[in-house]
Amino acid sequence: MRIQDLHQQLTEIGAKPVHIGRVTRAWLNGQALDVGTRHQKTEDFLPLSVRNGLPAVSDALDSLVRLRSEHPGADGSARLLVELVDGQMVESVLLPRDGLCVSSQVGCAVGCVFCMTGKSGLLRQLGSSEIVAQVALARRFRPVKKVVFMGMGEPAHNLDNVLEAIDLLGTDGGIGHKNLVFSTVGDARVFERLPLQRVQPALALSLHSTDAVLRRALLPRAPVFDPGDLVELGERYARLVGYPIQYQWTLLQGINDSQDEMDGIIRLLRGRFAIMNVIPYNSLDDDEFQRPAAERIRQIMRYLHENGVLTKVRNSAGQDIDGGCGQLRARAERIVRD
Ligand code: SF4
Repeated sequence: MRIQDLHQQLTEIGAKPVHIGRVTRAWLNGQALDVGTRHQKTEDFLPLSVRNGLPAVSDALDSLVRLRSEHPGADGSARLLVELVDGQMVESVLLPRDGLCVSSQVGCAVGCVFCMTGKSGLLRQLGSSEIVAQVALARRFRPVKKVVFMGMGEPAHNLDNVLEAIDLLGTDGGIGHKNLVFSTVGDARVFERLPLQRVQPALALSLHSTDAVLRRALLPRAPVFDPGDLVELGERYARLVGYPIQYQWTLLQGINDSQDEMDGIIRLLRGRFAIMNVIPYNSLDDDEFQRPAAERIRQIMRYLHENGVLTKVRNSAGQDIDGGCGQLRARAERIVRD
């Protein structure tokens, strides 16, 4: 279901744009959809036909996502395993400080070698209302003031649905535009379409290497971009919207934590309107990739800072629960299968 299908359904039961906005806002805020049905106050009022039709709309919206399980972490985050109407599962993560990480696809076609989600390939797209429904669901637990599109899937591969969701979240959803973060490996369509949007989100670009050949090996089915060209496009967008690009760098021991890579980062990002987010890899048992030692991570941070690159270490939320994106779902599916 896309947002426009919800609007169509509401129109068919007699809702005017003002009523559609009222119902949509109630849903997005995690409220029961009987808002306005019991009070006759002007601001709450919905016409009788709309009130009569709301239970069916409410049922349709409630069936979009269902909380399968919740896994609180020690850092204040919580991973939510969310079941879709066809039984497929995705993950949302409640982040500390009122953030939420949402999924945009079941599986992912990019196939990043260090990512569990990438191993399954793309299974299906999420509709815009399934993306937004993750926010409505999360708001039943706690406020959500920031939404990052960094869960399962590559948002650029489901662009129409993601942009529709962003538009709704940045309007009726009441989320500040720079608190909506579109995260991508880089795709020409993103740089063409984001500047044209009414709601222009912040942009996170997954860089992971400054060496074009290594980057291609790490992100095997990402669009081919020279890292320098990607940074140029990012810089143009950052200057347009007025908030910095967040570069993502999953730090893998012995692969992209070398001195050459650090010098490459300085060459590309010094003086840019950018933040470098270093995300030390979260290794599991028998993992082919390893997290660098704490001392090496500290050295990297110091070196980048001293050389003019604003750098933050980001640990993937809820590491103590079940690692990075897709691991919870993979485990749940194993349990279902076994
Ligand atoms: Fe897809 Fe993101 Fe995983 Fe890469 S890291 S495979 S883009 S979900």
